[in-house]
Amino acid sequence: MTEDLRQGLRGAAADFYQRGWMLGTAGNLSARSRADRFWITASGRPKDRLTLEDFVEMDLTGQVHRAPDGRRPSAEASIHQAIYRQVPDAQVIYHVHSVEANLCGHFAVDGLLRLPSLEMLKGLGVAAAEPQVDLPVFPNFVEVPQIAAAMERSFAQALPPVPGALIHLHGVTAWGRDGTAARHHLELLEYCFRYLVQAKLLAIGA
Ligand SMILES: [Zn+2]
Repeated sequence: MTEDLRQGLRGAAADFYQRGWMLGTAGNLSARSRADRFWITASGRPKDRLTLEDFVEMDLTGQVHRAPDGRRPSAEASIHQAIYRQVPDAQVIYHVHSVEANLCGHFAVDGLLRLPSLEMLKGLGVAAAEPQVDLPVFPNFVEVPQIAAAMERSFAQALPPVPGALIHLHGVTAWGRDGTAARHHLELLEYCFRYLVQAKLLAIGA
């Protein structure tokens, strides 16, 4: 079972690497192994060629439980801990650094990015003819636990309207009840980001 989780994350990492979302070892992926533990990509490993030894199992307090060959967890594991603590339905979390996600952070107003009013948002759980959805955009910090703390404070107040969030000039995070759902959510958010960038280039409203 835990091997299946890691195999799923390996496949997702190779896919996202090919899309240019995880270049230069950037980004991190995780999957819950039980209610209070998860597997996460180890720090500094190339995402197009992960092995089963390139994952670390840790709990929601940050304690590492399994670390093959002394691997260290992703430096951004605290973001995953915060989301798993606050979002019980999150079973898989994908955090990537894509070009469009970073461009779209510039379009945010007061920490919120208005997503385009597209039918596609149905796949993110918003069913409306012309949906009005604001994605939270958190400030970036060199000390990643500061980012995680800001996300956790916000999510404790209210979860985002869609299963994802942006970190300004850093990347996007999406989650789901399994790997397939998390991938769909990430793809749909990336679609929205590409749309917003194209709309800006064409000088049309979203
Ligand atoms: Zn990151």
